[in-house]
Amino acid sequence: MEVVMSNPNKETFFSEEHEMFRQSVRAFIAKEMVPYVEEWEEAELFPRELYKKFAEEDLLGLTYDEKWGGLGLDYWYSVVLIEELVRSECAGANMSLMVQTDMATPVIHAVGSDEQKELFLKPAIAGDKIAALGVSEPNAGSDVFSTRTNAVKDGDDLIINGSKTFITNGTRADFITLLARTNPDDKAGHGAFSMITFPTDTKGYTVGRKLKKMGNLASDTAEIFFEDCRVPKRYILGQEGMGFYYLMQHFQRERLVAGISGVAASQYQLGQALKYGRERKAFGKNLTRYQVWSHKFAELSTEIEAGRRLTYHACDLFNRDIECVREVSMAKLFCGELANKVIDRCLQFHGGWGYMNEYPVSRAFRDIRLLTIGGGTSEVMKEIISKLEGYSAS
Ligand SMILES: Cc1cc2nc3c(=O)[nH]c(=O)nc-3n(C[C@H](O)[C@H](O)[C@H](O)COP(=O)(O)OP(=O)(O)OC[C@H]3O[C@@H](n4cnc5c(N)ncnc54)[C@H](O)[C@@H]3O)c2cc1C
Repeated sequence: MEVVMSNPNKETFFSEEHEMFRQSVRAFIAKEMVPYVEEWEEAELFPRELYKKFAEEDLLGLTYDEKWGGLGLDYWYSVVLIEELVRSECAGANMSLMVQTDMATPVIHAVGSDEQKELFLKPAIAGDKIAALGVSEPNAGSDVFSTRTNAVKDGDDLIINGSKTFITNGTRADFITLLARTNPDDKAGHGAFSMITFPTDTKGYTVGRKLKKMGNLASDTAEIFFEDCRVPKRYILGQEGMGFYYLMQHFQRERLVAGISGVAASQYQLGQALKYGRERKAFGKNLTRYQVWSHKFAELSTEIEAGRRLTYHACDLFNRDIECVREVSMAKLFCGELANKVIDRCLQFHGGWGYMNEYPVSRAFRDIRLLTIGGGTSEVMKEIISKLEGYSAS
């Protein structure tokens, strides 16, 4: 039995065109990613050409304006892409590609100048330039307000000093969508920050360590440093002093990636476990014949369905440009935690083989762990929700 991501006949959000797109993305991933995953995991990097291959299939700018090389499609096409990427079983490459499409470029598309779109967005959509998002710092992860990297005005330029860490695509990014403090005055509050398009061939920019990780191995995660880096002031995105607000707004898209991936990975891994259980015998019968497991799977698939509904609701609001911080935060929280629960049970179901690296469930277990951490931790999601719901008001 083929386990589907969801039953397309029951979905109201996906049209026939979306489903045709799904089939073509699925075939593309099966051809261009699946056969190479072991190699990329071993090398702890995938080839740069993969960005170009994605671009040739028009997959790097699905929702972006045609003027910049995008397709101008609705957000549900991105949802399909994110869901299908799970089938590559290479969360590292998926994450790098999603940084390119859904994390580092949305703010450029939304508020960038034509020059910034020409220089950064267009080549990112074309797969010619690799993008990174530079927000986290050694002492400012969840607490973005503590960002220390600063950009000081000098005539028509900015002089940037500081460092960032945990930067996906960090070893080979051609540009960084960077958050920096542009106003040293503490009284400026959240208005002290700007987002800046930063070309990595700028003098004074260096890449530090490529960090060793427990999962998502095929992606590069690095420390980066800025020492008296001079860039034109016009590289500030949108309005100066609005960086913090732009970031919070565009975090919604990043967090939806986590919610959608969490549901899709849960569904996919449950399907893989069932395939295993139909072959594996213990005490004379297939594992799936034990009610303890069939009931566990029934329970988990009910939770996956709940997660999918919550996530699709958030996607629907996002697609219609309706304020959705509450729903997106809930989707990220629920689905990140759920995926960890599902993969833990799937690994258990594989017994000792689940613990062996030769079984993909072992890699998925390590990869999925990131979903409650990256792009805002579960605790931060709870903070946001409790504030919005008024639970933390005194
Ligand atoms: C593989 C990977 C890739 C990443 N890629 C990028 C990237 O491309 N660009 C980028 O900018 N960043 C990236 N990050 C960073 C990521 O966004 C941060 O790791 C995340 O936001 C958490 O920040 P932190 O690691 O500094 O943890 P901390 O903020 O130090 O948190 C430590 C713990 O304290 C908890 N905590 C923090 N605040 C509160 C609170 N108010 N109440 C209760 N608990 C709290 C957290 O939930 C966590 O459990 C990446 C991280 C990883 C692991």
